[in-house]
Amino acid sequence: MKARGAVIHQVGGQWEVQDLEVSEPAEDEILVKVMASGLCHSDDHFVTGDIPVNLPMVGGHEGAGIVEKVGSRVTRVKPGDHIATLFIPACGVCKYCVRGQSYICNNGAGMETGMAMDGTARFHDTDGNPIGGVTRLGSFSNYLVCHETQAVKLPDDIPFDLACLVSCGVATGYGAAVNAAPVRPGDVVLVMGLGGVGANAVQGAKHAGADHIIVVDPAENKMELAAGFGATAAFTSIDEARPLIAQLTNGQGVDVTIVTVGRVDDTSAR
Ligand SMILES: [Zn+2]
Ligand SMILES: [Zn+2]
Repeated sequence: MKARGAVIHQVGGQWEVQDLEVSEPAEDEILVKVMASGLCHSDDHFVTGDIPVNLPMVGGHEGAGIVEKVGSRVTRVKPGDHIATLFIPACGVCKYCVRGQSYICNNGAGMETGMAMDGTARFHDTDGNPIGGVTRLGSFSNYLVCHETQAVKLPDDIPFDLACLVSCGVATGYGAAVNAAPVRPGDVVLVMGLGGVGANAVQGAKHAGADHIIVVDPAENKMELAAGFGATAAFTSIDEARPLIAQLTNGQGVDVTIVTVGRVDDTSAR
């Protein structure tokens, strides 16, 4: 079927909105009408080349939409269901999924190719040339085809423009604080970088019971935003934050640092 989507063709290029042909879903795949998509910083990493992927690629992995069609073996969702996309599949049966580590599901291997799990494309240009989809999704297109293990059913009353953010930014930041760290009650937490992921790391830290959540971000306008998400202090540089951290921790340093800057070497200059 026909679709329109934003495609990156080369490193250093620009997103170009173009006509696309979307394949029929295979037996274990679903066709999704994309209602909303977030623009994640990872999408920008594909443009700058900081995260190398095969190009051309339809952007977007934070998607929310409505299932239009399902393959013959699909059991998890049905047409009409509202879903959010998963940028790493959760097959539920591989070694890692059964250990509770679905974030490294075996079926995520090869996702940087943008091709479906069978190695073929689900997007083509109007000349029939294959185009990948970011993490096998491509939510910058108004229609996408993905494996059923890359969709999570949503309650119908959750707005799509909010649900799509939970696909990556919310889960990544909240999970970093609550699961990966994990933040414990009473902790002093430093969050470096208050973008979409950082903002949700702050919320996760607050939810986990941190006593102090200190945000560092060079953007002045983030100082007020930080408080709204639950930060107890915010500074535009690590040097400004240091005296408070020393005071709160008897000079020992914070219990947890969550680094959510655009590039890790961004921290060195500040
Ligand atoms: Zn993302
Ligand atoms: Zn798995």
